[in-house]
Amino acid sequence: MKRSRLVAGNWKMHGSRAANAALLDAISRAGTVGGGAECAVCVPYPYLQQASERLAGTAVALGAQNVSEHAQGAYTGEVSAAMLLDFGCRYVIVGHSERRQLYGESDGQVAAKFAAARKAGIAPILCVGETLQEREAGRTEEVVGRQLQAVLDVNDFGNAVVAYEPVWAIGTGRNATPEQAQAVHAFLRAKVPQGTRILYGGSMKPANAAKLLAMPDIDGGLIGGASLVADDFIAILHAAGAKVTT
Ligand code: PEP
Repeated sequence: MKRSRLVAGNWKMHGSRAANAALLDAISRAGTVGGGAECAVCVPYPYLQQASERLAGTAVALGAQNVSEHAQGAYTGEVSAAMLLDFGCRYVIVGHSERRQLYGESDGQVAAKFAAARKAGIAPILCVGETLQEREAGRTEEVVGRQLQAVLDVNDFGNAVVAYEPVWAIGTGRNATPEQAQAVHAFLRAKVPQGTRILYGGSMKPANAAKLLAMPDIDGGLIGGASLVADDFIAILHAAGAKVTT
């Protein structure tokens, strides 16, 4: 089954109204329609309104970087899936390694966030990945398998997306080799419903994107640092097969 490609930017905690305007306009001007590749940007919460206005009528989908597992209530500082939907979010990242490591999100909590997004009709982008220590101990499949299984156990997968993000490759400039990434993607592929897109994330840049994206089980990228530089993000979209006009 042919899976469409997805290139999603994870802006993390970066941006300002002025910088966002320039970046969003450059990405949407580039035109990402056709070529079998879809484009999304996952922006910080305060900029959802700005991004949804700026991207209206363009081919670039809007996403967020986190969601509460709760529907509503006394959860100070949290944002629900229904609120994300109100801004037109089509995607939300769940279980990013920074959330797991810095904010102690457990597999169970990630599964509940995944369920909350699915219930609202937002496609979760479920991140899984091993640390360097886990890789060196030969535990990569055990770790990513456990992270994925926690979600599969309690959720219907629907249109969800998986992102394999080796923790040692995120923001380090050290990407997994195409062969290393492909091996993990093939492992994950055997566990998810047919047609599920599996993205690679971890220092994907214009210089390495084409080789990573040429692997049979890599269906796109989740891009951190390079998604903040319009020319780099557009070059990655191009490598993914999007028809871009620069
Ligand atoms: C990420 O944070 O999801 C990511 C892949 O970051 P970077 O591309 O900067 O490694």
